[in-house]
Formats: sequence, structure tokens, C-alpha cells
Amino acid sequence: MGRQESILDNPIEYLKGVGPQRGDLLKKELNLYTFRDLLELFPYRYIDKSVICPIRDITPHTDFIQVAGVLSDVELLGERRGRRLTATLKDDTGALELVWFQGISWVQKSLQEGRRYIVYGRTGIFNGVFQMAHPEMELLTPENAAGQDYLEPVYPSTEKLKSRGLGGRALGKFTQALLGQLQPADLPECLPDPLMTRFRLMPRYLACRAIHFPRSEEEGKQALRRLKFEELFLSQVRICRLKSRRHLQSRGWIFEKVGPCFNAFYEHHLPFTLTGAQKRVLKEIRQDTLGGRQMNRLLQGDVGSGKTLVALLCMLLAVDNGFQACLMAPTEILAQQHLESIGALLRELPIRIALLTGAVKGKERKTILAQVKSGELHMLIGTHALLEEGVVFHNLGLAIVDEQHRFGVAQRARLWKKNTVPPHILVMTATPIPRTLAMTLYGDLDVSIMDELPPGRQPIATVHRSEHQRPSVMDFIKDEIREGRQAYIVYPLIHESEKLDYENLMTGYENVKAYFPEPRYLISMVHGRQTSEVRETNMQRFVRGECQIMVATTVIEVGVNVPNATVMVIESAERFGLSQLHQLRGRVGRGGDKSYCVLMTGNKLSRESRQRIQVMVQSGNGFVIAEKDMELRGPGDIEGTRQSGLLDFKLADIVRDRVMLEAAREAAEALLQTDPELQLPENEGLLRFLLSRGHQTAWSRIS
Ligand code: ADP
Ligand code: MG
Repeated sequence: MGRQESILDNPIEYLKGVGPQRGDLLKKELNLYTFRDLLELFPYRYIDKSVICPIRDITPHTDFIQVAGVLSDVELLGERRGRRLTATLKDDTGALELVWFQGISWVQKSLQEGRRYIVYGRTGIFNGVFQMAHPEMELLTPENAAGQDYLEPVYPSTEKLKSRGLGGRALGKFTQALLGQLQPADLPECLPDPLMTRFRLMPRYLACRAIHFPRSEEEGKQALRRLKFEELFLSQVRICRLKSRRHLQSRGWIFEKVGPCFNAFYEHHLPFTLTGAQKRVLKEIRQDTLGGRQMNRLLQGDVGSGKTLVALLCMLLAVDNGFQACLMAPTEILAQQHLESIGALLRELPIRIALLTGAVKGKERKTILAQVKSGELHMLIGTHALLEEGVVFHNLGLAIVDEQHRFGVAQRARLWKKNTVPPHILVMTATPIPRTLAMTLYGDLDVSIMDELPPGRQPIATVHRSEHQRPSVMDFIKDEIREGRQAYIVYPLIHESEKLDYENLMTGYENVKAYFPEPRYLISMVHGRQTSEVRETNMQRFVRGECQIMVATTVIEVGVNVPNATVMVIESAERFGLSQLHQLRGRVGRGGDKSYCVLMTGNKLSRESRQRIQVMVQSGNGFVIAEKDMELRGPGDIEGTRQSGLLDFKLADIVRDRVMLEAAREAAEALLQTDPELQLPENEGLLRFLLSRGHQTAWSRIS
């Protein structure tokens, strides 16, 4: 089916009243290139001009109002900056003063004393008299005398457009002209009938009109509801189709057996019993790798839920079936830690494992690459260096990506090319994301959740402290160190104020040193301006327990595992996102000892900051925190989502409209279940719409 020419594809300058010059402005200022773009420039509120009020009704509480009456007493008053034009509008019930401070000469010329006007604007009181500044005025005619029979839309515009006479009202006129040219056939229905009935949705053609010029508030609401649903539903159909196609068409290696490596490890070397969640996820992965399809699974596990062990067991499964496996971490330190912990666990098994990062060079690198290629090496752990073309596997069966949100979708896709049949992919993220966001961002993946921490973990006591309580916080750290424990002190590092942040970090470091003098106490510092070697060395000192305090920026945020650390102090905590705070807090409480997180802030805090800190103090559950974070900050601010382009909804908002999103998701899944290729007659409109507009959506960016 080809793309049909639609009047909506016409260039904006072809619209009556627009022309080339205004067309250029609309393109530059509002990105309006076609009729469709104009149609989809939605009003953000409406003005009710359906009633004309008596002037007597104006009170000090009146905001915007529409009145009508005879104009008189047009007068120029004041000098220079105090210059203004005033006039009086009288109806049978009273009089209202009108006033202009700008464009005076033009207004003065256009006003006709003694004629009847219909006037709209915001009222205020000046010198004890009701006044309306810069009102909208129109001569009263038989047509407008009863007021408008629709609500007037208010559109976003820009100062530049306004100054060229292309403000919100002009845009409204254009839209009205456009709608006048459109036939129902130009806006064909794209939602299947059964859905329309089930959700009581307004037809597309009517909704496109009513969203611009609703005849009542209720009609406007229904139009908005319909168009939001359409947006969410279409995005879900696209994502679910991608997923179901992959399920149907992709080929994947079959991990037939659970073999000697897995069994030997499970029976003799497993350091603890698996949690219920770990077992459940393993079962899901086992199923995925049995069916002959490529696995694409997202493992969302809260900090400390034990994802590494799950990764290891999956890799053993791959090895038992004659495949290689790789594990990719976002930083060298993390890759190193994975190698060490996994290497230690596998010490007694006949498994060859190596590390590949940017730092591995020369002969060592050559040897590793050769062994990867020959198949001698079973497991490769590394950073994104694994993605390089020079890394050629003998038979890669499974690729695991740890701490996903630092990797893009494109990088995920590059892993697929590492074998003739793409390897199974397991993406693990330590930052739980809200369900609705996951649906939108990772809707093409199967999702596993690990919301259970290993037994015996004590909750991390989290407190909020302000500057004047600092001495007692420092004393507390001393107590913990006396018990043989270690502490982190973390400083924010935000790009926009990097210089200042580094100064604060250094000052902070000096202060900490003053509280904790050498040689009794030893402090290590890690930040992004150090070379990776220095960073590595300093980090290792802390890991090995050679110093008690680690002063750092958020470079330690993800993954690092030092079970002996029991205190996490976060400076200027109000400047961090909630997920980030949760991540940082997750660096402690990893051993059996009681752990603490201290959120330091200045004495003065905004209401929102206080709320956010409260969330941290009250909840230790990453999933709960993620939901709250999104509620408080909106989805656009959640780490890693900003650039994705997947959240570019025009009307819908995945926080406010989450119930609708869930309904849309469920409807999309059900629809594709019965009609995966959209061949049923009732889905014809949907298919045509998807094909005609596929290129405009984020969908094309994912696939
Ligand atoms: P994350 O999910 O944050 O990556 P890790 O895999 O680093 O968590 O595990 C956190 C800690 O919990 C590690 O010290 C690990 O050895 C331990 N751990 C993992 N699974 C279990 C389990 N089933 N029982 C007890 N401790 C576990
Ligand atoms: Mg981890």
C-alpha cells in the first residue's frame, strides 16, 4: 500500500491567508511546515466567549469577561511614559473604562465613538474604578451579538509571531480556514470500531474539529480524550508489533540442556541460596532460550537484588550448550569488579574468562582477541570495547548488558551482529523505572522484575540532616570507623556548574581531612577529572580496606560493591535525582551490618526538595521511589529518557494519563493477539494509518 497524497501534506504557505512570507515565519517559529502540522498545533486552553455579561456583573474577583456596549469618551491622557488612551464602554447596567498603553495611535484611529462593540479582556481595579487594559474589540453585528457558539482556542505563539500579527488569534483563523477545507475523508478513522465503542471515543474527524473549536467544555474534553488515546494506542501498537514480530520471526539459539558447568556450580559453589526472585527470573530466561527465538529481556532489579549472580548462571547455561557469553558493564571499574567476583566464584570450574576494556592493550589484547575468535575463551567481560569490530566471537550465544541506561538502543543492536544468528540479549538495569515509562521505552522487550532483596539484609536507615548538624554526622562516622567500617561521602557534580562543583568537592575534601586527620584516618578521593588509572588506584584502596573514607563524585554511583562500607553521606542531596540518590544509597547495606544513609542539605529547602528528601527517608524500595520521582519531576527528567525521543507525545502525558496508557497497552496487546498482521477488515484503517505515518514516529528510530 503506497502513501496516499493527502491535502494535509500541502505546504503551509498554500493555506488561504498564509502565503510565502508568513509561511516562512510559521516554519521558523513554530515548525509548521504542512497543513497537518497546523492541525496538530493544539490549543492549550480555551476562552469562553459564548456569553455576553452585563457590565454590572463585574466584581473585584472577575478575571476574563466579555461585555458589550456603546463606546464613548475616547481620550489621550498623560505624558511620555504615563501616556495612555482611555475610553468608556456603556451598557444598560453600567460603564467600564478601557485603557491602552501601547499602539495608541493605531488604536485611536480604529475606534469609532458612538458605535456598539463587543469587548473581551481581563478586568482590574485602578484608582477605585473597574478597568480593562488592551481589550479585544469587535464591532457588534447581528452575527456575534449572541456570543460565539464555540469556545475560542488559545494557541502557543511567539513574541516574534505576535509582532507580525500572527498571534494566537491569527493561528485560530488559519485553523478555522483549514478545517473549512477538510472533508471527513481527509481525516479517516484509524481506531477499530470495537475500540471506539468500548472506550466511547469520538470519531477522529469530529475530534480534530472539536479539539480546536469545541462547542462546550465537555465536547473539548471528549475530543482531547479521544486524541490522547489515539496517540497512546498507536505508540503501543507500534511497539507491541515490533515485539510480536520479533517473537514470530526471529531465530535464536536453543540452549537445550542444563549441563555440567551449571550443575557443578549450582551444587557446589553457589555461595548462598537464591532468592525467590532470582529463581523466577532464571526460569523465565530458561524458557526464552528454549524456544528457538532470540531472547530480548530487560531485567529490572532493585539495587542489591543480586543481578550479577543471575547473569553468571545464565552465562553458565550458554557455556554448557557450547556457546560463548559476554557481559558488558558501563565503566572499567565495574567490569573489573565483575571479573573479580565472577572469576572467584568460578575458580574451580574449567571455564576460561577474560577482561577486555580500553585499557587492555598490546600483546595481552591480541591474545584475548585470538582466544575469543578461536572459541578457547568461554566468557568475556568488558566495557563497550566489546562492541568494537575487532572483537569477533567464535560462537556468541548470550550477551548481557549491565546497568542499561548508560547504553543506547543502538548499542544494544550492535550486539546482535556478533553472530550469524543473533545472540540472546539480557539487559540489566539497577534503576527501576516506572511501569508506564518501561512500557514506552522498553515496550519491545520482555521484562523481568527482581523486587526482592536477599534475606538477612537490614534496611538502610536514612536520615535528613542540615548543615548545623554536620559535627554530629562526622562524630557518627568516627563511631562507625571505630567499629572497623568504611564510609562514603559523595558530592554532586552537575555539568552546568562543573567548575563550582569541583571547588566544593575540594573544599569538602579539606574539611573531611580536618575532621579525620592522618595518620589515624586515611581518605581516598575519586572524581572524573582524574585519569582512569588514578581513579582506579584510589577506588581499589577503598575496596581493599586500605582507607576508611571515600570522598567522591557520582562516578561511584553504579554497581560498586564494598560490603564493609556502612555509611553513605550525600552532600547537597537536594541536587540529586531520586533514582540517583537511591543508587548511591545502594552502595551501602551490602554486607550483614546495619547501614546508614545521611542526606545533607542546606538549612533552606524548597517545598519540592523537602518532599523529595522525605520520599528517600520513608522508602527503601526502588520501584516506589521511581514512581514518586516521575510524579514529582515528570517523565522528561528521568535519567536517560530525555534524548530518547520516545516520549514525544503531543497531547498525552505518561504520568497524568497513566491509566489511559495502561488501557491502551492492554488494548494493543489484545488486538495483536487476534490479528498480528492487521489483516481483519476492522483493522484496515489502523494499518493504513500506521503505514502512512510510520516514518514520523519514534518507532522508525527503534527498529
Ligand atoms: P545488583 O543487583 O545491585 O547488581 P549484586 O549482584 O551486586 O547486586 O549483589 C549484591 C550483593 O548481594 C552481593 O554482595 C552478592 O554477593 C549478594 N547476593 C546476591 N545474591 C544473593 C543471595 N541469593 N543471597 C544472599 N546474598 C546475595
Ligand atoms: Mg550490579
